[in-house]
Amino acid sequence: MPIRTTPSSTLGWMSDSAMDVRFDTRLMMQATGVLVDSFGVTFGVPVLNRRNFLKAGVTAGAGVVPLTSALSPLGAMPPSSAEQAATSDTDASRVELVSLPRRLPPLDQSTVPWQQNIRRVGQTNLTEYDPAVMNVDQWADYWHSVKADVVFVSVTGILAFYPSKIKFHRHGKFLNNRDLFGECAAAAKKRGMRVVARMSPDLNWDDALEAHPEWAMRHEDGSVQYSGEEPRLFKTCMFTSYMDEYVPAIMREVNSLYDVDCFYTNGWPPLGSLPDCHCSICNKLPPSGTPAYWRVFTGRVLELWQKYDAIAKEKKADSFFFANSGGNVRGGPNLDRLSKVAAWFQADNQGRTYDDAAIWGCSLQGRVCNAVLDGKVAANVTAAYSTGTPGWRNVSKNTSEANMWLNETLASGMVPYFHFVGAESGFVEDRRWEKVGADYFRWTAGHDAHLTTRRSIANIGVVIGQSTQLLYPGPASAPSRAYMHETTQGIYDALLQGRFAFDFVHEDRLELERLAKYRALLLPNVAMLSDRQCDQLRHYVHSGGSLMASFETSLYDEDLKPRADFGLADIMGVSKHGDAIGTNGNPYSARVEAASVGPPHPILQGFHDTNWLAGAENRVPLKPVDAPLLTVVPGFVRYPPELAYPALPHAHEPAVVLRESGASRMAWFPGDIERTYWLTGHGDLLRLLLNTICWVSHDERLVHVEGAGSIEMFCWETSPGYTVHLLNYTNSGAQHGWLRSINPIGPQKVSMRLPAGVKVKSVELLRAGQTPSFAFQNQILQFTVASVEDYEVAAVTVG
Ligand SMILES: [Zn+2]
Repeated sequence: MPIRTTPSSTLGWMSDSAMDVRFDTRLMMQATGVLVDSFGVTFGVPVLNRRNFLKAGVTAGAGVVPLTSALSPLGAMPPSSAEQAATSDTDASRVELVSLPRRLPPLDQSTVPWQQNIRRVGQTNLTEYDPAVMNVDQWADYWHSVKADVVFVSVTGILAFYPSKIKFHRHGKFLNNRDLFGECAAAAKKRGMRVVARMSPDLNWDDALEAHPEWAMRHEDGSVQYSGEEPRLFKTCMFTSYMDEYVPAIMREVNSLYDVDCFYTNGWPPLGSLPDCHCSICNKLPPSGTPAYWRVFTGRVLELWQKYDAIAKEKKADSFFFANSGGNVRGGPNLDRLSKVAAWFQADNQGRTYDDAAIWGCSLQGRVCNAVLDGKVAANVTAAYSTGTPGWRNVSKNTSEANMWLNETLASGMVPYFHFVGAESGFVEDRRWEKVGADYFRWTAGHDAHLTTRRSIANIGVVIGQSTQLLYPGPASAPSRAYMHETTQGIYDALLQGRFAFDFVHEDRLELERLAKYRALLLPNVAMLSDRQCDQLRHYVHSGGSLMASFETSLYDEDLKPRADFGLADIMGVSKHGDAIGTNGNPYSARVEAASVGPPHPILQGFHDTNWLAGAENRVPLKPVDAPLLTVVPGFVRYPPELAYPALPHAHEPAVVLRESGASRMAWFPGDIERTYWLTGHGDLLRLLLNTICWVSHDERLVHVEGAGSIEMFCWETSPGYTVHLLNYTNSGAQHGWLRSINPIGPQKVSMRLPAGVKVKSVELLRAGQTPSFAFQNQILQFTVASVEDYEVAAVTVG
């Protein structure tokens, strides 16, 4: 078995010690087999083979870490996949396990603000009817019994839940001067729970409109914009005195009457899209949907945020204001700028919808939060009620679906938050959700130290391109608002299939010190990049980093102004040779050019018996390059089949451009392969993406999880040690509707190399409540999770 010394990297993402141990996983895979999909395509994800795995061992430095010492019972392995794997080809990539970074110094708890210690959040969202019926003690007892640290209680701004004296703060028809907010706040405080005063500044009634017509959002024809569901409520404009005067008046009234810990606005700012208002103020702003408007919008959000934050602090210095956030990669305001003022990121991302049907919608949000928050708290709201269209606000959703959303919240480093609407006959007509929340929250409460994250363990960064997500209309060949959503889902799916440890990276956070942890950055059609951002990426490459990019990446500046050539043309060795070409019939294919000498390039591993591979739906043609690995076979007619052949059998247009410079590896795909993979599921595109990600990242892994099944993996450094989170998505409900059951998966073997001097005290499986045996030799930790139901957290305690 080879042992090699890895030269220390200029960026310092390699191990602390000079010696790196290289796992020869080619040999491991010969012993263990590789995963086979239904087309017989093999991917570089090994599974254990019942016949052969006993023979396998890993040489680690001077000693041998036998796999058998860390493995759990043989009987847990599914025989069918093992036999299937035994017949597959073993032409898989080599994986190099590199050391985790040196551990962070211990946290000084005296410097940690209170909200950082929040681990469970509860909310019963009040309705107008609740003051007539709500049993406050029952409500408070429930949230206290499940160990909620904080509860959200509605003040609102649409309907007052206390006898407000603020003009236009309408008392609901069942309030009858009852101080429901005050009762709830006092009951929570009595039980040691903190209280968030929850407001809703987004809508108000006709009497307010009559007195203040300037408060309303307007259509282009000047007419008032009303709520889509309740036409008696008009939409308020965030640029008006409604936000400068009315909202602060409510905050000050609440602060004067009650003991609350902080303030929150629901319903504002908008998520995932920008307001489109034509009131007299907004008519003077740049048009909505443009980069210039986005900057003004973000500026106004931050202005109000800071103003409200100062009001919150008028009574208590450790109070603060925070607002509705989320929107995944699209966000709302610029997330980098927002993160500089936000004390709490409230991810209003309550469940899957049919428009956004992939199961990982919550963990994707967690990755967005991790990209911008520098360790500040993010809580993700899980609706215990039924999300979707249609949805039921007051009826519980499937238990396994609610649990998975909570699992993803924890796995991606956020704080779980459980939410139901209405108290109806005292404390809710549908009580099924109560046990779901209680079981989950009580379980987490036993493991707070392990479930509190310090930093993510990842060596691949995916640039999310928030401005592209929000403002880019798609290419001229396929304009669509869903374009970037599909692109993101494609790269996300591929990264999960390859079980890579990856982070999202915001385009306004490309400073070298932030990027230094990543061996490679991926740019999935990040169309909008400023000159400065392109320079930062150049700097990253010159410092030894690798890039994989696709399609229209860097073809536009930060104002969506097209460039004559890609902003990254020089560093990537590509040049534009025409505008985007779409598909009419048959998309282009990629011709495999025979290598003049030696074995096939690593990005072509596993392709056999074909000269053509699937291309992508859209591409930006590139000028020819020397010795292209793949060339474009232009698209042609799909029907009639008589005409389904290329006019030009051999072109010189490259279908991929690869480049190496020192430790940097660059790969450029002219096609939108991530999105086309998402639309089609084509194995060629997946294999090409996986092979290329492996190649640009030098096959390096920080944590390696081997086993069968579809999972999402997260790894975190924690105060006690490390956690490896495994989310089991092997489920027919993973891409549509909700989960209806759980399909446990078999053994998952975890390997990671701890920093020099760090010792392992124990490994615990927090869901199963087991302590598996582990092997630890030459800093390499190996253990096996015998079975994963819906979720497992392997918690490593170090000494
Ligand atoms: Zn307006």
